[in-house]
Amino acid sequence: MRTCPLCPLFIATVLVAAPTAFLIAAAPTQDSTAPSKAAANTGKKAGEKEWAVHDMTRPEPAIVAGGTCTNGGCGAPSDAIVLFDGKDLSQWTANGSDAKWTVTDGYFQATPGAGSIQTKQKFGSCQIHIEWMVPETCKCESQHGCNSGLFFMDRYELQILGSNGNKTYVDGMAGAMYGQHPPLVNACKPNGQWNTYDVVFHAPVFGKDGALTKAGTMTVFFNGVLVQDNAEILGATAHAAKAKYSAHEAELPIGLQDHGDPLKFRNAWIRPLTN
Ligand code: MG
Repeated sequence: MRTCPLCPLFIATVLVAAPTAFLIAAAPTQDSTAPSKAAANTGKKAGEKEWAVHDMTRPEPAIVAGGTCTNGGCGAPSDAIVLFDGKDLSQWTANGSDAKWTVTDGYFQATPGAGSIQTKQKFGSCQIHIEWMVPETCKCESQHGCNSGLFFMDRYELQILGSNGNKTYVDGMAGAMYGQHPPLVNACKPNGQWNTYDVVFHAPVFGKDGALTKAGTMTVFFNGVLVQDNAEILGATAHAAKAKYSAHEAELPIGLQDHGDPLKFRNAWIRPLTN
């Protein structure tokens, strides 16, 4: 007869553990209001239907084809609103007049003194992509010579600045939420090379009384590198002053700043988001 050297140990373990397991199972739940582990893992946001984990009937996200990428950059996704198609500035205005920035070879360029430009269409929360370059001939000295800015709702600035080898205050360098948050790292390319911004912007929310109920945020990838991580907007961009919020419309134009420097832009597109 074959022997089983571990059998006595196994039987002893079962005899001890079984009554203990029975007692645990029979014990009343200590806190019946506590969410179960399964419920905690549903990924449910406030106000959303609660789905079981791996529920096959959960609605599928829409299919969006990513833009085609070449050495010249990536094209717009299929559901994006193209803000610049390489040909004209028909999507842009300069405070109601024609945008007087120049268009050349698939890019457009700030004309110093022609004024900042704004999209004709208004947006709230959004995902935006834009590429920008400081021309090689520009001489950057702190905030001068290489400055522009991407303005959300025409008032919340993500700084655009030649910041490769150009010292300035850190909350005013490229990738900074101007005057509020420095970028997490400096990912700026040298003048003469294209930079990319990919931003998720969430618009602030105001109550009926005009008081802020939810601050806006920005998440920014600069040349593919995270430089703002869901950073809270402190108020409308101000120079050398503390930012403050004041209530405004739910949708407003996107702006590009004329800071007197001939920065170039291309491949701009936007995808509106619900807040
Ligand atoms: Mg600026």
